[in-house]
Amino acid sequence: MEKFKMTTPLVEMDGDEMTRILWQMIKEELLLPYIDLKTEYYDLGLEHRNETSDQVTVDSANATLKYGVAVKCATITPNASRMTEYHLKEMWKSPNGTIRAILDGTVFRAPILIKGIVPYVGNWTKPITIARHAYGDVYKNVEIKAPGPGRAELVFTGEDGTEIRETIHNFTGPGILQGIHNTEKSIRGFARACFHYAVDTGQDLWFATKDTISKKYDHTFKDIFQEVYEAEYAEKFRELGIEYFYTLIDDAVARVIRSQGGFIWACKNYDGDVMSDMVATAYGDLSMMTSVLVSPSGVYEYEAAHGTVQRHYYKHLKGEETSTNSIATIFAWTGALRKRGELDGIQELSEFADKLERACIKTVEDGKMTKSLSLISTCKNPVVLNSLDFIKAIRETLEALL
Ligand code: NAP
Ligand code: MG
Repeated sequence: MEKFKMTTPLVEMDGDEMTRILWQMIKEELLLPYIDLKTEYYDLGLEHRNETSDQVTVDSANATLKYGVAVKCATITPNASRMTEYHLKEMWKSPNGTIRAILDGTVFRAPILIKGIVPYVGNWTKPITIARHAYGDVYKNVEIKAPGPGRAELVFTGEDGTEIRETIHNFTGPGILQGIHNTEKSIRGFARACFHYAVDTGQDLWFATKDTISKKYDHTFKDIFQEVYEAEYAEKFRELGIEYFYTLIDDAVARVIRSQGGFIWACKNYDGDVMSDMVATAYGDLSMMTSVLVSPSGVYEYEAAHGTVQRHYYKHLKGEETSTNSIATIFAWTGALRKRGELDGIQELSEFADKLERACIKTVEDGKMTKSLSLISTCKNPVVLNSLDFIKAIRETLEALL
């Protein structure tokens, strides 16, 4: 068989620990035998980030802006124990944070649905994609513990010196205070990324805040979404027969539970943090969540939602067998390849991505899976495979589909 050709390279961001091992296996077993794989390779493994003083992360993000599509392996976000483990010069920032800041993107997370892995919410028959605003609010807060009685004020000083001043509270005893912010630019970027992704995937978009209580802060989110929708997307939505739906956050939560799924749920930063864990768990398993960062200008970075699966890696280092699920990482590759195919007009490449995804799903539905899936599957006698044998089983299914 002739290999599928590519014209533009994918930006390939290698990563750490168990997912770095899977990365290699996926390329060798599922990609290189079938595709003339073109990538521009960036090693975001922690060792190399440290050697380059994290320049490699910045370079990889800039390459993504240049080429338009990246695929990323999970990476370690350093903490104190990683400092000693990897003899780091500095506690480098989260690569995802750095990349997100450069692409100004929004992260969309969706579960991969498979027969036999039944969501805890019985009527969820289609995936719910969570889009989390990744800037500001409580994540960039300023806090004060008021020691005793006194007046708390909110003050804005304009560049020309004009002041806007509001009393927050007159304390009669000790208390707590918090200042948060967001910017119109960031909210607008978030809105655009959400509408763009809805059009791209042909799904309805839901958005919710608490604008009845927060008449300026949350209301601004609501207004900007409405404005961007009307000015730039309403017509495309009508053409595609999809809907933009705004409601209050508590109403949204109730409706989401009653829904069948199959839409994008845009969330403010905190709501997205909380709801994405709820939704991921309700669909079954973190190892089955995909993730894509979309910039308002339409640049894409695909990855798995899970981390580097450190515990499995340490077993692997000791020579013990691992049963790590590679599906979300494979879907990062297929997402990126399909998008590359779409952008470059190479239909066979997109079709290959579809088939590889189908091969993953069919392999599990046929009863062959990794350990964590076997624990939640309704399959009667699942065959539990190790990390490599699972990938080889997917290859066998793929061969039949091709
Ligand atoms: P994790 O790597 O997602 O793993 C947590 C646990 O979830 C694992 O120990 C494993 O459970 C299970 N799990 C996750 N993915 C799995 C898979 N594909 N197959 C089977 N089981 C899977 O999270 P973590 O242990 O908290 O973090 C490890 C490292 O990843 C950290 O250094 C963190 O900074 C990094 N991280 C990176 C990203 C990213 O790059 N996007 C995201 C999150 C975390 P059992 O051990 O019970 O089998
Ligand atoms: Mg969280």
